[in-house]
Amino acid sequence: MIIHLPKNISNDYAKELAEQIGALCLEQPEHFALITNHTVKQLPDSVASFALNHWVFNSDMQLSSRAYHSDTYRVQIGDTYIGGDGKNQLMIAGPCAIESREQIEQSCLMLKEQGIRVLRAGCYKPRTSPYTFRGLGEDGLKLLAEMREKYGLLIATEMRDATHADKVVEYADIVQVGAKAMYDHGLLTAAGQSSKPVILKRGFGSTLQELVNCADFIMSCGNNQVILCERGIRSFETNTRFTLDLCGVAWLKEHCNLPIILDPSHAMGYAYGIGDLARACTAMGVDGLLIETHPCPECAQSDAAQQLNHQQFAQMYASLQPIAAAVGKNLV
Ligand code: PEP
Ligand code: MN
Repeated sequence: MIIHLPKNISNDYAKELAEQIGALCLEQPEHFALITNHTVKQLPDSVASFALNHWVFNSDMQLSSRAYHSDTYRVQIGDTYIGGDGKNQLMIAGPCAIESREQIEQSCLMLKEQGIRVLRAGCYKPRTSPYTFRGLGEDGLKLLAEMREKYGLLIATEMRDATHADKVVEYADIVQVGAKAMYDHGLLTAAGQSSKPVILKRGFGSTLQELVNCADFIMSCGNNQVILCERGIRSFETNTRFTLDLCGVAWLKEHCNLPIILDPSHAMGYAYGIGDLARACTAMGVDGLLIETHPCPECAQSDAAQQLNHQQFAQMYASLQPIAAAVGKNLV
């Protein structure tokens, strides 16, 4: 249950009331929100006389639920936004990982030429094998910050674990919590306590309910600038890397109040399918796409098979324009 209490009671008293009913107390601009788990169905007597409003839920998808906040939250991305009136589809692109100054400069030049605002590149890579490239770490963050200054791009990058969460929050304009870290409560808390937009990727073995519960974790720390990312789930199919769950996206659009972006690159795992999937996602009217592109995909130190070269990227991006227009979206 979420219960709104007025701001004319003190912060301490709101916390005391929350404690009495075993709720979390979240201070919002116009009220306090007391949040219990969803098994509470009756407004507790101790708060009844103060309550401005209350909502009952059938799962712990509460703050992220349209039943609580019917409009999609607007997430500010530099001088533009996604969510809100749903008019914009954001392109987030770049190499899987930042590997060198030369490589990232080439990526930035291409993104600028294409009019793309957000460069995404990993500095702390979660890898399946310990014997492969794990990213440039803080040196990568510093290089990305330099690229932001030089090219006026916004920087999205991933926090892999709590050892560097503060650094990523400090350097990034958009913080990514990756699929393998979706359940890491240390990262969810760090993301929730920051004021940066957060891309929360769905774990490939996670249900939609588990994804939105993790979004609620971030939001319950006070940050509602959360963007959900569907990046493919594991199915019985082995010919593609994962299976992009478009039904899941339709469910999220109906039930969840957060903008949704799609990552066809990690879902497909092969460059040849990315254009078709990006067009399909755009036709669904999603709030954004995350596409991996590398100046030399065959030289990439991670996810080589799925990265588009710059020419493929430009072709794919141009092909999205009429589809976006047909579903009433601006590509930003
Ligand atoms: C990534 O975004 O580069 C990544 C590692 O993806 P995921 O967390 O979806 O596996
Ligand atoms: Mn990758």
